[in-house]
Amino acid sequence: MSLQEIIKRIEAAEAKAGRSVGSTKLIAVSKVQPNKLVQTILEQGHRTFGENRVQEAAVKWPAFREQFDGIDLHIIGPLQTNKARAAMELAQAIQTLDRIKLARTFARLAQEMGACPDIYIQVNTGAEPQKAGVLPDDADAFIKEAVALDLPVAGLMCIPPADEEPSLHFALLGEIAARNGLNGLSMGMSGDFETAVAHGATLVRVGSAIFGSRVPN
Ligand SMILES: *Cc1c(COP(=O)(O)O)cnc(C)c1O
Repeated sequence: MSLQEIIKRIEAAEAKAGRSVGSTKLIAVSKVQPNKLVQTILEQGHRTFGENRVQEAAVKWPAFREQFDGIDLHIIGPLQTNKARAAMELAQAIQTLDRIKLARTFARLAQEMGACPDIYIQVNTGAEPQKAGVLPDDADAFIKEAVALDLPVAGLMCIPPADEEPSLHFALLGEIAARNGLNGLSMGMSGDFETAVAHGATLVRVGSAIFGSRVPN
């Protein structure tokens, strides 16, 4: 699908949900995609991208930033504490805060650096043991702790279980955000971004629908 088609589908979903058109930001998930393809999307004027791995992002994005202004890079993969500084230096948003140790590290580095990317807290809405994220029952307390550390908490992020109806998870994420006064909702991927828009997503993370399937490198 072309970038334009995805944008049209997002806009149609926004209109259908009675939301203002353009209220959902499209993150083009460029992990593992060849630079040539990423460059094509940049040349079409798109600026918001998502990467899973800090190391891969550090190889790719500084060079693109020299060529293109206004790049808005989101880290959307699990983050080791020892990569926190590199992630904060590279990205405008980090979507995978999921433990207090990492929150404290962000807070300390933010003091030192005088800046901090937007932070999203990942919630493991399906309570899957193999998946990152705070458990739904722990989310309220964790959000309060992160806010108390003065982190710029912009919202919540989730990756629903592959074999479950995503709308239940999107609704749950929306409820947790609302009762904690958070506006940002990062949810929805290639297979379910329209459902996510219907449930109030402010960010959708779309990879394969834009770039084609990922060829592992
Ligand atoms: C890879 C990835 C995506 C994009 O997935 P697609 O199904 O290719 O759209 C979105 N979110 C996260 C966290 C990812 O790791």
